Amino acid sequence: MSRRLREGQRRRLARETRRLPVAAGGDLRVAVAYPNEYRVGMANLGFHVVLEQLLRAGVRVDRVFLPSDKEAVEHRRSRTPLCTLEQGIPLRELDLLLFSLSFEPDYVGLVSMLGLGGVEALARRREGGPLVVAGGIAPTLNPEPIAPFCDLIGIGEAEALLPALLERARDGVEALAGAPGWYLPAGGPHPVQRQHAPLERPALPVVLSPTSAFSSHVDVEISRGCRWRCRFCAAGHVVTPYRELGLDALEEAIAWGVAQRGRVGLVGTDVSDHSGLEAIANRIFALGGEPALPSFRVESVARRSGAAARLLARRPPQSLTLAVEASSEGLRCALGKRLSHEKLLRAAAHAAEVGVQRLRIYLLVGIPGETWSEIEGIAPLVQEIAGVGPPGRLTVSINALVPKPGTPLQWEPAPSREHLRRARALLRRGLRGERVELQFESPDWTRWQYLLSQGGREAAEWVIVAAEHGWRRALARAEGDAPLLGAGRQPGDPLPWDHVEHGPPREALLRERERCLAREYVPPDRESSS
Ligand code: SF4
Repeated sequence: MSRRLREGQRRRLARETRRLPVAAGGDLRVAVAYPNEYRVGMANLGFHVVLEQLLRAGVRVDRVFLPSDKEAVEHRRSRTPLCTLEQGIPLRELDLLLFSLSFEPDYVGLVSMLGLGGVEALARRREGGPLVVAGGIAPTLNPEPIAPFCDLIGIGEAEALLPALLERARDGVEALAGAPGWYLPAGGPHPVQRQHAPLERPALPVVLSPTSAFSSHVDVEISRGCRWRCRFCAAGHVVTPYRELGLDALEEAIAWGVAQRGRVGLVGTDVSDHSGLEAIANRIFALGGEPALPSFRVESVARRSGAAARLLARRPPQSLTLAVEASSEGLRCALGKRLSHEKLLRAAAHAAEVGVQRLRIYLLVGIPGETWSEIEGIAPLVQEIAGVGPPGRLTVSINALVPKPGTPLQWEPAPSREHLRRARALLRRGLRGERVELQFESPDWTRWQYLLSQGGREAAEWVIVAAEHGWRRALARAEGDAPLLGAGRQPGDPLPWDHVEHGPPREALLRERERCLAREYVPPDRESSS
């Protein structure tokens, strides 16, 4: 290995703090890979969940990350293959290489890492080398775009999937045939059912690093899934059932987080509705720490007597994030959120009253059925929020809706570039002002995410092009290959993920889709998702 690369790895390891010791290990050489840079991967709780499962099973597991551009140049210059962080094992000498994939654009990192590690990207051409295994929410929704690269893909949660893998992996891929949740892409699509596990202990980092993206606090997962089932959201439809951890189960993790960083990040998709939120926060305060809060549901902040609002009032953060989603109540109903204009303004005003300095609000464009007057309505809504809300900067973060597999909007088209560009221009004109900062996701990037979310196996070709020449070149190629892919699908059309049973039956998704198009709000059956 090049001296420069070895030194870099040594420095990284020297600055880390481990929560769990390195396991003695058996005869399998295993690494968990994160297909993005170290600072990003180390901040991803899903990555740490896989590490923890393996360590608790007694596996001596290493980590490996996508090198930075500078490091990749050094790998090529020195002809050093990509190696694991702890033991410096080249990827091609491993027995098992497990990729943790939360976001579709990271598929490109997977191919780049295999290339740098001297492992053939396409599984059908590989001879020897590790079993390449992938898992995470992105391939759980639709495994096909990475199917050609993987020997195995886990559909569902690591806690439910890994025991069978560890038991049978040494006998080869075929030993996993028929194991619940394991998808073997080589034989073509076959039925596979998403697996989930009871939430028994919180996810939290196995290793802390001062150079992780979230190094100022320790993240602790307090709940998984969401009971609200907004129609565009995979967390509400595919990460089911909703599960939460009480104080007893969290005690040890919280104490460790406070001891290490003082601040404990409460992680979950619906933290503000956690039934034990106040008790958890009180425990953190009692230990001398501070809770770090994620985005809150607007309703929870507006309801002043609720636990989330009381918590804000007790220790107001500098900055608060609220998911507003759309400018009109009708469009919010279409998305499956009942949120009145008054409640929204009440939440912003309450945040200001308790001392929050800055607000960030999330909005979507490209919602099925939206009108131009509703897009134009974003600017006056933002001005109203700025008028009653916190005194500091108001960040308006606008993303295009990317319809996700497994949700009621899975058949919808991608918003066109023209639509997004026009919306961006309108909002730039309407949102001028010193205090308001507009962040609008690039229309091309939206399109790329859509193609990787909704594509079939053909998308693997585009991922290879992106790894070699960048995603913009790959996007141009993809649009030439599949010009109709962004046009959406009819409910009777085959979908690339038809063989994956996510959970909600197709009829239920179709019913919700109809309600979305009719802008009909129906409260979610919260019991059925618990
Ligand atoms: S509140 Fe809605 S958007 Fe937020 S996590 Fe739950 S289902 Fe998803």
